[in-house]
Order: sequence, then C-alpha cells, then structure tokens
Amino acid sequence: MSLYLFNTLTGKKEEFKSLKNGEVGIYTCGPTVYNYAHIGNLRAYVFADVLRRTFEYNGYKVKQVMNITDVGQLTSDADDGDDKMVKGLKRDGKPLTLEAMSELGEFYTKTFIEDLKALNIKLPHEMPRASKHIKEDIEIIERLLDKGVAYRITDGIYFDISKFPSYGTRGGFKLGELKEGARVAVNFEKRSPRDFSLWKFSDGAIGWDASFGRGFPGWHIECSAMSRKYLGQPFDVHTGGIDHVPVHHQNEIAQSEAAYDAPLANVWMHNEFLNMSDGKMAKSGENYITLQALKERGIHPLAYRYYLLQSHYRSPVNFSWEALEAAQRSTQKSLEFLSLNEFLLKMNTPITRIVSKNQPHWSVADWEKNVEAALSNDLDTPKLITLMHEAIENYNPKETARWELINKVDKILGLGLYEMAESLVKEMNTVPADIKKLASAREEARKTKDFKKSDELRYQIQKEGFEVMDTDSGPIVRKII
Ligand code: AMP
Ligand code: ZN
Repeated sequence: MSLYLFNTLTGKKEEFKSLKNGEVGIYTCGPTVYNYAHIGNLRAYVFADVLRRTFEYNGYKVKQVMNITDVGQLTSDADDGDDKMVKGLKRDGKPLTLEAMSELGEFYTKTFIEDLKALNIKLPHEMPRASKHIKEDIEIIERLLDKGVAYRITDGIYFDISKFPSYGTRGGFKLGELKEGARVAVNFEKRSPRDFSLWKFSDGAIGWDASFGRGFPGWHIECSAMSRKYLGQPFDVHTGGIDHVPVHHQNEIAQSEAAYDAPLANVWMHNEFLNMSDGKMAKSGENYITLQALKERGIHPLAYRYYLLQSHYRSPVNFSWEALEAAQRSTQKSLEFLSLNEFLLKMNTPITRIVSKNQPHWSVADWEKNVEAALSNDLDTPKLITLMHEAIENYNPKETARWELINKVDKILGLGLYEMAESLVKEMNTVPADIKKLASAREEARKTKDFKKSDELRYQIQKEGFEVMDTDSGPIVRKII
C-alpha cells in the first residue's frame, strides 16, 4: 500500500519512500521533564504513535527514538530566559546541582512514561537523556566552529544563519516571529538577531567542560546530536508539534546540515495544537490539564485518545469537556456492542434481534479498501473511526474476516477496544450455577406458557446482574457488564 504523508519540508503531501528497504527511522521531539505533561503535549505523542503503527501495519520495521530533555532547555525559543530544568529545581526548593537536576528529570520521566502507557502509546525503542549526550553536542559545535559557521561571543557560542542561506526558505519552514526586542533583551553581540545559541557559558555547578569553554548546551543541539547518534543522518521521519517548525526544527536542520553536509531527515511531520477555548493550553494554572485531571473527572485515558483521533492531526482541536465526555460515551457504546457481538459469535449464535443496523450492501472487501485509502491519505484517523463504527455495527456472523479487520484497525488507532471487548466477553461468560438454574426454570415456564412465572424469573435474574437473551438458537444467559 502506498502511503502519502504531508511533509513540512516541501509543504506537500508526498508518497513515502524509506531510506532503507523495509525499515523506517522516526525521531520524535520529546518532553522537557521539569513538570507533568499536559494533555496538549500528549497530543504530539498520540500522533507520533499512530504514525509508527501505520508504518508497522505496512510491514516496516520501525525504530523510534524520543529524546528526554533533562538539561539545557531555555524557557522560550529565544536564547534568553531561565533554563526550564533550573526553574523546576527552584520551584521545588532543590539545590542547583547536576545530581538534583537528574533526580527531578527522572521523576517526571517516570510520570511521562506512565502517561504514555495509559494512552496505549508504544514506548519508543530509545529514549535518550540529553544530559547523557553532552559529548555528542560538543562534537557538532566543534565542527561548526571549525567550519566558521559558529562564532563565540561573551555569553556563548552561536550559529551564524547567514552561513546557511536556505534558512527559513523551505516548504513550511518560514521564519518565525522575532522575539527579541519586546520582552527578550536584545543581544547586541550577535551578528544577526536570528542567530541562535549552541552553547551557553557557565561557571556554575550546572555545566560541562568543553574545548570552547565550560557551560551547557542550547536546546536545539541535543536533537541534532541524538537523532544522528541513534538513527544516522539522514533518517526518515522527524515529528513534533507545529510550534517547533519556525525555530526549533529550523535550527536543528541548519546546524546538522551545516555540520555534516547531509540532510537531517527526509520527512518532517507536525501535529496541530490542542487549544483551550480561550487560547493555548497554559503553562500553569487551571488551563494546565494533565491526564491525571482527566482521570479525576472520570475520563478514561483511551477515551481521550479516541477524542483526539476524531480530528485529523493537522487540524487544531478546541478542547471541551462536553466533547470529551461525548467521545467517552461513544467509545463505551462501541465497546458494549463489540463485546456483545463477540460473545454471541463465540456462542455460535445468530443474533438478528441485537443487530442495530442492517445494511445489506455492506461488504468486508469494500470496507478494507476504504480503510487502506484512509490510512494512506496522510493518516485520516477521523475516517478510520467512522469506518470502525460501521464495521462494529454491521454485524454478520458469517463474515468472520470482519473481526480480524476490526482488530487490525483498532491496532492502528491503538484504542485497545478489541482487547477490552475480549476481557468483557470473558466476564459475560461468568455465570454461576444458581443463575443458570433460574434460567432453565424460566425456559421451562415459557415452554408451558406460564408467562407470569417466566417474567418473574427473568426479573429475578436481572436483579442478580444477569440477562437472559432469547436468540434463534435458544436462550443465553450473560453477566451484565
Ligand atoms: P515541550 O515539552 O514544550 O517541548 O512540548 C512537547 C511536545 O508537545 C512538542 O512536540 C510540542 O510541539 C507539543 N505541544 C506543546 N503544546 C501543545 C499543544 N497545546 N497541542 C499539541 N501539541 C503541543
Ligand atoms: Zn527536538
């Protein structure tokens, strides 16, 4: 199946071709671990996960790498401001040492991984820590200095964008808004306001020795260093949120290409934002919603995943609790329907009465074609969700292939519906002997046309949490789930 993906580098949807036959390398910009992830951040990882699953569905062997930024992330894309990790240490009253920073980082890495697992996001094959790759950062910076593409000023080493003429000219990589001036102090030593820092000098405890002076790396350099180390250069696909296009990814490209005279990645893919009704998801306060906060409101993490996938990854999503709750109800309904279907199928029972819709023209073969078309069209998850509902609702016990297909689509979307349905089916099957006895007594009453008694018994069974279903091949009892 050919796969068409929107590439920010060219600004077009293109047919995907891997660099190595049958293999794909994906680099996903990971979190800065100074705080819990908010549900907007998590959108970026759900998107990257669906991408990975799509490649896997297409038979590729995927290697996914996601960095953990546990050092050197300045609070803004500009070169000024506090380091986020340092900010985290100050907030928690911790000492400003590398050891404390590493501890802080590991704590939020752990909570981040728990979030990924709860959202059914497959863990990347490698999750390298920025603090463990300073040597690789230094190597790139030394090359850039040797080539005269980087220069030194009082507070650090900077990349000279005038030496990289394609800066801000490719596809969607336009120049971002210039932050210097209004709120960020202008650094008069820089040759151009858009030159960015590769290394900041520092004599403090948080720093590393380098041939060009003690300090710590700028944020962008770590992604260039770690992607190259774990995937080679060039690699296939680089992902991240849309906010990274104008600065972070632009800078990654400039420094990697300038250092090694080769592209960094062939395809650049970016997810749109999850916005609050009044703008961006805030960095703190009430608009900073975590997965834990969703759980506290009774929302299952996988219902959040479903909610996100109802929109295309390149469309902004405006967060609303109502829409999220509706998504949860819809997932539950599908799950109940799927489990009931599966339960009855296992019982080898035609269930004409339970079928909610009956579309005679529906066929598995056509449906599969539609699934592949949606998948190959730049990951059209809203369409896949519609198709999955269609397949779940079009029950036909003779079409056993349908089950395998629902399972396949579910695996791409990563909703875990199929597995949950299987465990629910097991639960439906746990009918104790006394309930079975009541059901037989009810059947006897029905045969002798004692409907009053049969109704009473049905009611009694129901009160115990079970249901008798009259099917074409006789009554079946199940636990109500
Ligand atoms: P950060 O830790 O700020 O680097 O963000 C981690 C990832 O989440 C990056 O890929 C960001 O582009 C992405 N991101 C941040 N905020 C949002 C949002 N509100 N919606 C979607 N993605 C986001
Ligand atoms: Zn990055």
